[in-house]
Amino acid sequence: VFSHVVRAPEDPILGVTVAYNKDPSPVKLNLGVGAYRTEEGKPLVLNVVKKAERLLINDSSRVKEYLPIVGLADFNKLSAKLIFGADSPAIKENRVTTVQCLSGSGSLRVAGEFLAHHYHQCVIYIPQPTWGNHPKVFTLAGLSVKTYRYYDPTTRGLNFQGLLEDLGSAPSGAIVLLHACAHNPTGVDPTIEQWEHIRKLMRSKALLPFFDSAYQGFASGSLDADAQPVRLFVADGGECLVAQSYAKNLGLYGERVGALSIVLRSADVASRVESQLKTVIRPMYSSPPIHGASIVATILKDRNLFQEWTVELKAMADRIIRMRQQLFEALRARGTPGDWTHILKQIGMFTFTGLNSEQVAFMTKEYHVYMTSDGRISMAGLNTKMVPLLADAIHAAVMR
Ligand code: PMP
Repeated sequence: VFSHVVRAPEDPILGVTVAYNKDPSPVKLNLGVGAYRTEEGKPLVLNVVKKAERLLINDSSRVKEYLPIVGLADFNKLSAKLIFGADSPAIKENRVTTVQCLSGSGSLRVAGEFLAHHYHQCVIYIPQPTWGNHPKVFTLAGLSVKTYRYYDPTTRGLNFQGLLEDLGSAPSGAIVLLHACAHNPTGVDPTIEQWEHIRKLMRSKALLPFFDSAYQGFASGSLDADAQPVRLFVADGGECLVAQSYAKNLGLYGERVGALSIVLRSADVASRVESQLKTVIRPMYSSPPIHGASIVATILKDRNLFQEWTVELKAMADRIIRMRQQLFEALRARGTPGDWTHILKQIGMFTFTGLNSEQVAFMTKEYHVYMTSDGRISMAGLNTKMVPLLADAIHAAVMR
């Protein structure tokens, strides 16, 4: 009965790793997927995560019962504090509802379904370009997806004018997806002054801000600094949504730990909204997994573990920044034509190189360097030993 089913295309991001794994070359480099690697090119389990897991194992009172539909209460409270700030008035006034979800993706999807059922506008504006999963998640949730200009290929920076024009002509009440920091795939973020401008425009048109926060701590190395744009919007007392992921900043990728917070006008609305979020989650996966959320809660509630986390997080962010410098210098040493300062200026895990899909295909074929066809490379997948290979590949692709 299923013989008519046609093969679906590989996911454009995860497909890069599939192709990489099939390549028999002994020297190859995967810069496709946004996962952190050490200087030795290995995945990293943070020490603070290992410590938390040991504490959990040794705690004999712990059981494997189902969590409530909304997840682990401590985890939810602490996640809201992490993004909104410990003394956020919205939290103090109980105007925030937070539900544990399946990492960032699951948080986006739950929010999408909630908005499709309970919000008067079904249009969501996403930046052009954005993470490839965004349009799929929101379309399947029942929202109508439109884009706003974000990136300027000529400056390899923000198209601020285009962004303001597009949001300025969006219908009143439209939902606007914003990357909280370290925009994926461009690595280009607004300055705090530009954020303030965006906030004023959005509030004046009653546009609903929806932050995707997948890289808190990864952009600057500081959890608070990276939460600034979100806190700016919460400080004005208006509504907003935030999807948080602990995949990158705690390295909990496969544990699927994240949270959706919705900031509302009153405690009463927050509690009603939470009741409806439960009706979205229950028929989808009933309740979230316990292990990853317990790790996060253990770290966030212990002053020493939290402090250790910030040190390890900063070390990851700093290594990425070093890779930017090394790649930039390697291209300069080769005299590669073009202005490569955007490698230094862009923020977070990714560099949007400006290489086109033919150049990317050439680099993969001739140099076994793998990346998404839009020219995005994960700086977190690079290490000192591999910088020369990447620089040679880019140089040869540009000189063709
Ligand atoms: N949003 C953005 C912008 C991302 O880059 C990612 C991860 N690549 C996610 C959300 C979701 O990741 P996860 O579901 O693993 O938390």
